[in-house]
Amino acid sequence: MNVEKVVTRNWGKPGQNTLQGYKQGGGYAQLKKALELTPDAVVAEVKKSNLRGRGGAGFPTGLKWSFVPKDNPKPKYLAINADESEPGTAKDRFILENDPHSLLEGIGIACWALGAHTCYIYARGEFKYPSAVLDKAIAEAYRDGIFGKKLMGKDGFALDVYQVRGAGAYICGEETALLESLEGKKGWPRLKPPFPAVVGLFGCPTVVNNVETIASLPPIFEKGAEWFAKLGAEKSGGTRLVTLSGAVKRPGTYEVAMHTSIKDLIFDAEYGQGLPNGRKVKAVIPGGSSAPVLTADEIDVKLEFDAFKPLQSMAGSGGVIVLDDSTCAVRSLWRVARFYAEESCGQCTPCREGQPWMARLLRKIEEGRGETKDLETLMGVAKSIAPWPPIGLGNTICALGDAGALPVQSFVQKFKSEFEQHIAQHRCPYGDKPWGHYGDFA
Ligand code: SF4
Repeated sequence: MNVEKVVTRNWGKPGQNTLQGYKQGGGYAQLKKALELTPDAVVAEVKKSNLRGRGGAGFPTGLKWSFVPKDNPKPKYLAINADESEPGTAKDRFILENDPHSLLEGIGIACWALGAHTCYIYARGEFKYPSAVLDKAIAEAYRDGIFGKKLMGKDGFALDVYQVRGAGAYICGEETALLESLEGKKGWPRLKPPFPAVVGLFGCPTVVNNVETIASLPPIFEKGAEWFAKLGAEKSGGTRLVTLSGAVKRPGTYEVAMHTSIKDLIFDAEYGQGLPNGRKVKAVIPGGSSAPVLTADEIDVKLEFDAFKPLQSMAGSGGVIVLDDSTCAVRSLWRVARFYAEESCGQCTPCREGQPWMARLLRKIEEGRGETKDLETLMGVAKSIAPWPPIGLGNTICALGDAGALPVQSFVQKFKSEFEQHIAQHRCPYGDKPWGHYGDFA
């Protein structure tokens, strides 16, 4: 499909995850270039590029930066969200492993623009190898005088960068829970407003950006904001990393153009190469497991952020999960529901009580013990957490409530007859499966 590589441009080059290898390819020249501009000019360039956050929400990055109040005398922070744990998503870890200096150079550019002298990279606890590569890269950058008292030799501008490892809680990928965890507290999301850009880490203005977002900055400053904007769609600049998994011949993490459709991603020879064993697409979860499911008729949709709005779904974190026609919709949804039940932080009632309730009802239906009223109860519980459509009406403190409630409503609405069949036949029409121990919320 001939996609110009942006974040994967260095992957596979020998020695690329070392400072020497990165510098040989022209690394850190863009940070130098950015430091010659005023911070406002850097923000303007990022705005012009139409770079949008790659963590899930797709919020315009330059706009987010501009929310940081200039007149606030408190220190400003940059926090990098490397707590990638949305099921179906595996991309940021590969940036850390293959090209950590792209992230570090991007951090230098972002901190200069924001006036931040400290950056924390919050990495998922399970990222043992990616974290080790990143630690080494940070140490190299300090040794080379890139970080420390003078950012890349810039007089009067110090920058310290630290990696902090999480303890494996999905909720700490939520930006305010991440900040709580960085402060050494339990990772409980905060009520918003105030937003982190105004009251963030230690009560100071803080920008939280995803790894892929910040790793996109060096190419933007190398080739220009217009180039980056033109690569993408109308309001979404650049390319994006997507993770293709499930019923495809060639699952993997791919850098794709914004105009690539889910259908292309599944069937193109360069990506998924279609489904094995002659199976057909039944459904696709398009943006990590929290995204409302699409039917086979809805997959001719571009992987760009705004394209999903008419379908009441979302591009999310780029985790595309393909379900084939041999897959039970009830069982798939039950699996998703179990995850959110286990990961709810328990702070607010609709989510704490509702997620496990939905998981239990789904298991009951899948096992053939379901009653007609269960479907109504299931939808009632889901709607009380976050009615759908549209997206964004959640009644909980953070979006994990929506993350569990939206898949339930979309699966039941789009595959209702399958749920009814389970209840009417007192069995799963896709056959018996072994039931093991699935934890407390099963
Ligand atoms: Fe915690 Fe769920 Fe409430 Fe978010 S929605 S704060 S995860 S209980």
